[in-house]
Amino acid sequence: MRKFILAANWKMNLTAAEAQDWLNHFTSINPNKNHVEFRLYATSVLLSDLVRTNVLHIGSQNVHPSDSGAYTGEVSIPQLKSIGVQSVLIGHSERRNDFHESANFIKEKVDASCNHSFPFILCCGEDLKTRENGTHLSFIRTQLTSGLSGLENNHVPLLTIAYEPIWAIGTGQTATTAEVTEVHTFIRAVLLEFFGESGTSIPILYGGSVNSSNAASIFACPQVNGGLIGGASLNASNFLELASSL
Ligand code: PEP
Repeated sequence: MRKFILAANWKMNLTAAEAQDWLNHFTSINPNKNHVEFRLYATSVLLSDLVRTNVLHIGSQNVHPSDSGAYTGEVSIPQLKSIGVQSVLIGHSERRNDFHESANFIKEKVDASCNHSFPFILCCGEDLKTRENGTHLSFIRTQLTSGLSGLENNHVPLLTIAYEPIWAIGTGQTATTAEVTEVHTFIRAVLLEFFGESGTSIPILYGGSVNSSNAASIFACPQVNGGLIGGASLNASNFLELASSL
């Protein structure tokens, strides 16, 4: 049975001491949920310490497509791998919009991850205007097509998709179960077009203001294989509470 993925995206939050407190709390609660894979996506400066604790899957929130070079402030896949980081987020809307990452740059990151056999979560999702004018599905298809073109079936095990409608991220406004079901079913169909039957094995996560009151209904939607959690992941109890609905 495929494990349900519950992934924390801390964004630019928590100091080293706060991160350690979070881990202590996480470990002391000991959720004992064998069907859930817990992951933590943290800012680069925290990654070494987090990996060393060996408590859960640790991922990076960002990566540069080059292996090395004159890219001040960036981090490469070989560097992440060298300290035991297990995966990376690619194409989060905050990277696309606030840091002006183009579809081409995101594609370069996807290709670099594939070349290094480094697992990644490719994020997609529409803004409010696109949702309101009813073109969200074609928008998402374009993002997926651009990110996934040229990938082969042997890359499938590296790939996770996160659907994160931008209007739901950090706003407290969650997509309805009908909206989640529509998009997740659509994404699954696109993955099947790309990869044939093996597209069924790619996890599709939902992200956008998931909290303890809406988690159970969202996680029960068809084709939802987990959640990418921002605000509600900053406190270990709140994060783990989401798993109680699984
Ligand atoms: C996110 O940024 O990935 C996210 C889902 O944030 P939030 O849960 O705070 O909406």
